[in-house]
Amino acid sequence: MKILTINCGSSSIKYKLFQMPGESLVAKGLLEKIGEETSFFRQEVANQITETRRPVKNHDEGLKLITESLLSGSPPAIKDIREIGGVGHRVVHGGEGFDRSVVITEDVIARIEEYQELAPLHNPPNLAGIKAARRVFSHCVQVASFDTAFHRTIPEVAYLYAIPFRFYTQHGIRRYGFHGTSHRYVARRAAELLGKGKYDLNAITCHLGNGCSVTAVRNGRSVDTSMGLTPLEGLIMGTRSGDIDPGVILFLAERLGIEMAALNRLLNRESGLLGISGTSNDFRNLLAEREKGNQQANLAIEMFCYRLRKYIGAYLAVLGQTDAIVFTGGIGENVPLVRERSLSNLQSLGIILDQQANQEAKGERIISQKESKIAVLVIPTDEELRIAVDTYTLAHSHLSG
Ligand code: AMP
Repeated sequence: MKILTINCGSSSIKYKLFQMPGESLVAKGLLEKIGEETSFFRQEVANQITETRRPVKNHDEGLKLITESLLSGSPPAIKDIREIGGVGHRVVHGGEGFDRSVVITEDVIARIEEYQELAPLHNPPNLAGIKAARRVFSHCVQVASFDTAFHRTIPEVAYLYAIPFRFYTQHGIRRYGFHGTSHRYVARRAAELLGKGKYDLNAITCHLGNGCSVTAVRNGRSVDTSMGLTPLEGLIMGTRSGDIDPGVILFLAERLGIEMAALNRLLNRESGLLGISGTSNDFRNLLAEREKGNQQANLAIEMFCYRLRKYIGAYLAVLGQTDAIVFTGGIGENVPLVRERSLSNLQSLGIILDQQANQEAKGERIISQKESKIAVLVIPTDEELRIAVDTYTLAHSHLSG
């Protein structure tokens, strides 16, 4: 059976096609600028790349173009649309309703619609993708995987904000957390690699990519995470500020007269690594700039590491006993400097990095010394593959049930 995973933005669709249960990637692609004259489409099948520009009106047309491309080409990724046995959708906000991936029904759609208010930028395009895929792939089961699901076990003391309680009860304002699919996966893999049961592991998982978040995992379950009501809170990210005194926002609005839409752009798109460095949100570029002596790039990197270190310290205290610290995501997997800076000189807390292992090798690995009480691991994540695994499991039981 093949499983298609879909990640829909307001004007984009990213997708991957996996052969299951072997988990091999058959095709991947991207459609951008939906709704414009020059929509851009790129697909990769067996190292063959196809690129086209042509107008694509909406997500329905986009999915039809994707299906045609999967069926054509030499070799085609699929010979018949029925080879696709399930479609897995990344859904950003599952509110308080979903603690796992689910088969999409009318009721599930209605609940995702309810949570639109909490994720106005993300849930509407996710839903547009779901509705389009139900029409285009009507023969197979559709599954929703929620970024928030793994964090449903966070206790009240950690998920509430200290504003009047009625904002929680009336409007659902609380910490929800994101990147749950990735945090859950690397926590499970870390347990396996350390020979522990999945509900026996206490870990701090650091997902460091374009978006960044840290999660405290107690007995295999999320008990705190750095992202909040939205993915803006917590660590410094590519273009997001992460934690900031709310007073700064009041100052920007009241004293500098910055409008709400501009504030939103400033905090989500113009801040973080980009805002501090003034050159790039991409860590590779910042490392290159730093090598050339660019002080602002260096400052952005140091601030990024400092904020991460602070969160790791906080979550060591939250967990008490900790078995592992796990790094994942483009930065977490590939930048030894970040791991070194965030964990250096913490012998007194039981963390001793193996400097050589930290610099070397790729793929899954332990990078702490044997005598380190807390193991440090690098575990590559693949959120789409995790969504595909959930979709395959549910599609399988749907067919056999
Ligand atoms: P992700 O969202 O997980 O794809 O991560 C994207 C971030 O990881 C960007 O800031 C990239 O610059 C960074 N990244 C990916 N690969 C590398 C690498 N080999 N070295 C340094 N940074 C990397």
